[in-house]
Amino acid sequence: MTDNMEFPDDNHVIAGFNLICPECGIANPDDADCCLVCDRDLTNILLFFEDDFFDLEITENCLIEYRKSFWGTRRTGKVIKYPLTEISNIEFGSPVNRFKFDFEGKRHVLPLREKNMDSVKKIIPKIID
Ligand SMILES: [Zn+2]
Repeated sequence: MTDNMEFPDDNHVIAGFNLICPECGIANPDDADCCLVCDRDLTNILLFFEDDFFDLEITENCLIEYRKSFWGTRRTGKVIKYPLTEISNIEFGSPVNRFKFDFEGKRHVLPLREKNMDSVKKIIPKIID
């Protein structure tokens, strides 16, 4: 591995390096067990994407929202974990793309880019009944 790996953006994906580490944003080999840079366990990530107001990770047990600043350029450091067992009443809004669910007695609404919304729609029914 070289030291000068670039942070990939949407238009530039290195073949075979599609597994983005949710913790540090580095692209790892598709079959990596842990992040080459920060050593985070990557085996249970079902989905990870960057959106305008947060980055979202979905594992077998959790939704994890990494909050970003208002301008969406960097993370605030605030990380919210939603255990899947405590999420209910899931709804996908349209025509505006919003992912809605109840958690701890409150309605949560996550605005998503269309592409990300499609991914969430595909994966959620597989992990929540
Ligand atoms: Zn990492």
